[in-house]
Amino acid sequence: MKNDRTEKDGGSMNGKRETALVAGGAGFIGSHLCRTLLDQGHEVICLDNLQTSREVNLRMLEGHRAFTFVRGDIVDPLPDAVTRRRDISRIYNLACAASPPQYQADPEHTMLTSVVGTDRLLRLAEQVGARFLLTSTSEVYGDPEAHPQREDYRGWVNCTGPRACYDEGKRAAEAMAFDFARLGRADVRVARIFNTYGPNMHPDDGRVISNLVCQALSGDAITIYGDGSQTRSFCFVSDMVDGLIRLMEAPLSDMAPVNLGNPEEYSILQLLDQVVAATGTRSQVVFQPLPVDDPRRRRPDIRRASQLLGWEPRVPLSEGLAITCAFFEKELYDRAPGFAC
Ligand code: UDP
Repeated sequence: MKNDRTEKDGGSMNGKRETALVAGGAGFIGSHLCRTLLDQGHEVICLDNLQTSREVNLRMLEGHRAFTFVRGDIVDPLPDAVTRRRDISRIYNLACAASPPQYQADPEHTMLTSVVGTDRLLRLAEQVGARFLLTSTSEVYGDPEAHPQREDYRGWVNCTGPRACYDEGKRAAEAMAFDFARLGRADVRVARIFNTYGPNMHPDDGRVISNLVCQALSGDAITIYGDGSQTRSFCFVSDMVDGLIRLMEAPLSDMAPVNLGNPEEYSILQLLDQVVAATGTRSQVVFQPLPVDDPRRRRPDIRRASQLLGWEPRVPLSEGLAITCAFFEKELYDRAPGFAC
């Protein structure tokens, strides 16, 4: 998919040097966001508890003179190194474990990260007059009856199931963000992120692309949950970061979330075919039970993002997968230098 926008209209901050706080900036999407903001000439403060991030993501950023890392958990009071910075003009909240096995490992902390953590960051935005962007999730649609999912679809979420700590936490965070906006306390934007993949994912993340690619490269059995007919739509990380920055910088007047994701939909078996093609693997495939409340179908309707932000994804799955496979190949080699696929 292509569009003909220029880099100049691609959400850069109008040439003005901003100071961005990126909560969760050492994580998968966060580390790419920090890198892009630094490349655009901005100052970046990354706040992260390093719970699910790869420390090497951070090491790649730490050499930059406009980059500051602060270790902290947004569930706790924000560190002084953050609260004393009155120059913060943008706050991106990407702090939360996002892979089902990881966010289910400590569900109470996951819920508090979205609820308490978002409240702390919104209050900071109010105090310093910063614009605030919440990364919400396609999970707010639950196991959707509407397809593709538009932002005005209210979802079908099991509020007592094992995914609820994440889904309901993000739904509460959205509610809070829009209340801050309604009350004039902060200028907020809410992105509903659909499945995203690319370099800097953790090999042990547990999500489908990292699992399948690493299993294929290592020659391990490839795990397909259920019969593999469930669908997802996979967005390459550079497209996602572009969408997030555009959303932050757009002059928005209406209060509504914006879907960000790639609308090309694949069954997990179709994804498997692509992974096999990209890696040439001869791994066997094993079918395992479908996790509880695993959504059957997921595809974003991105008309709102396209109209408001002039955004749509550019990187097709085959291209993104090739880049991701090369990343994981190196990652696995660094872990075990004898490794060869
Ligand atoms: N999945 C799979 N094998 C794996 C990991 C995941 O078949 O090793 C399936 C999972 O059941 C789901 C889809 O792939 O249907 C996407 O899972 P993921 O954890 O990446 O994200 P989700 O969209 O479920 O949050």
